[in-house]
Amino acid sequence: MSDLPIRDELRGVEPYGAPQLDVPVCLNVNENPFPPSERLVADAARAVADAVRGLNRYPDREATRLRERLAAYLEREAGVSLDAGQVWAANGSNEVMLQILQAFGGPGRTALSFAPTYSMYPEYARDTSTHWVAARRDDDFGIDEDVALKAVAEHRPTVTLIASPNNPTGTAVPLGLVSALHEASDGVVVVDEAYAEFRRDGVPSALSLLDTHPRLIVTRTMSKAFAFAGARLGYVAASREIIDVLRVVRLPYHLSAVTQAVAVVALEHAVELQGRVAQLRDERDALAAWLREQGFEVAESDANFVLFGRFADRHAVWQGLLDHGVLIRETGPDGWLRVSVGTPEETTAFKVALVDVVKEQR
Ligand code: PMP
Repeated sequence: MSDLPIRDELRGVEPYGAPQLDVPVCLNVNENPFPPSERLVADAARAVADAVRGLNRYPDREATRLRERLAAYLEREAGVSLDAGQVWAANGSNEVMLQILQAFGGPGRTALSFAPTYSMYPEYARDTSTHWVAARRDDDFGIDEDVALKAVAEHRPTVTLIASPNNPTGTAVPLGLVSALHEASDGVVVVDEAYAEFRRDGVPSALSLLDTHPRLIVTRTMSKAFAFAGARLGYVAASREIIDVLRVVRLPYHLSAVTQAVAVVALEHAVELQGRVAQLRDERDALAAWLREQGFEVAESDANFVLFGRFADRHAVWQGLLDHGVLIRETGPDGWLRVSVGTPEETTAFKVALVDVVKEQR
């Protein structure tokens, strides 16, 4: 046991993260498998050069140009009218979410979510000394409204967190539930839309509720649809009052000039990137259909990954796939595995390996 005066809740805790292994087919962290186009690379290189010429100065603390572009993007993507003052950005939606907990959680306060869900949520709560409560999702991974409202009444959360589409299940929640939770609680309701661009037609974004729901916060990321996980850019849309509170807890100059510059360039290429998103949605639906044909259970997915099962020994299947050079994720409820949607070649490699592994283990 270390003699360091670390906080009790951090003692013996391992840092969070999926294994980063060097294998031919990586389908484990819901990345976008398509690298940026050469045109985007060239434009980003020019923007980085310009940014580097000014690196003797601190970056724009308010990231104004980037926030204007993000607002315009959301307006096009979800048909809502927003201005830069209703948008905030940080290093990944991970940082955005931590800032939300710093502002609205804290000692004596509770954050509520619905499990199984994104494994980082309890860590944001722990790191901000916020009490963490996870109510249960249904067997089909949706959220029962009665269960949700009861949990709000019992725990009086200052932050209610709903991933929609949810990780690791891919489940999107109806907006009626978001509305009901907002009405039932005095706290902020955060809808984590990291995977929103992959939602199926007819599934609306919670952004459409912002006008009428003053304590609603919608978070997004450029890590998935924009194929920009390495750039680290997450963002949030909410009322100006909420954004102003997030500006209080942010570190000064938290978003580097280089990050701001490349994110603006990626937003200029949004149309080209959205073409890839459409392709990934089709691949996802085809993969889910194929898995069902093989006799697996498959959770309905509005994201760029699919949760499937059930396996008596999921670890053995995960390891078998890895032995075939395919890395997926052992996460979610016991018996299930999660696979990200890759390129057509990667998906084929996954299918071939899975058929082999299941045969080997019979
Ligand atoms: N929310 C959810 C539901 C996620 O699955 C992830 C990434 N796996 C994130 C947020 C964080 O994304 P990032 O920090 O890359 O924006």
